[in-house]
Amino acid sequence: MACYIGITCGWEEKKNWHKLHDEYVCAVNAVGGVPFLLPSLDSPELVAVYYNQLDGFIFTGGSDLDPHYFGEEPQENLGEITPQRDAFEMALVRLVLAGNKPALGVCRGLQLLNVAAGGTLYQDLKGVSDLMHNQQAPRWYPVHTVQVEQDSRLFRLAGQESFLVNSFHHQAIRQLGQGFRAVAWSKDGLIEAMESTGDKKIMAVQWHPECNWSSDRISLSLFKNLVESAR
Ligand code: MN
Repeated sequence: MACYIGITCGWEEKKNWHKLHDEYVCAVNAVGGVPFLLPSLDSPELVAVYYNQLDGFIFTGGSDLDPHYFGEEPQENLGEITPQRDAFEMALVRLVLAGNKPALGVCRGLQLLNVAAGGTLYQDLKGVSDLMHNQQAPRWYPVHTVQVEQDSRLFRLAGQESFLVNSFHHQAIRQLGQGFRAVAWSKDGLIEAMESTGDKKIMAVQWHPECNWSSDRISLSLFKNLVESAR
């Protein structure tokens, strides 16, 4: 059975175009899913069509979420925000949270899921952690350790309590949203992965498994799990 996976896209305001790292598309394709790129449209009817027609979703990495979504004014080190993308993804993620289809959140995607579930973010990690979460190493190269909760779906996928991940983010989860539990942490205590509680099939990671799915077994397993859950 074909398994249709919707992948949200970035938005570049200056050039008026959508953008997405090919790595996401290749990863979905590699595990037998059929990738669909989702433009940031502002029609609630269209968002519902995407939700109803597709089997699973990837909320991808990218720019910062507008902090008004978690009740804060913008702080000094907030990065670029993309209002059109925020609005579209927020509408889609709310359908995902209300429904039963599986989703994978990556970096911004994890933050988006958390905020849509009522959680909050650190707008910037300066002064919060000294650990380098914005690596200068190549994108595929894992740089910092995560410690995984043993009684979790992530642990069952990874098969180990601790492993290395890549890291390029300057924000992180502050308060966890409802319906999620933290399942992995970096050594500085920040949440690096969360998953839905109960029957929902949502997993989200602060790292970027799309950058090394072809060489990293655990990264690949996250995409495999999404497609298998969607079947
Ligand atoms: Mn990190």
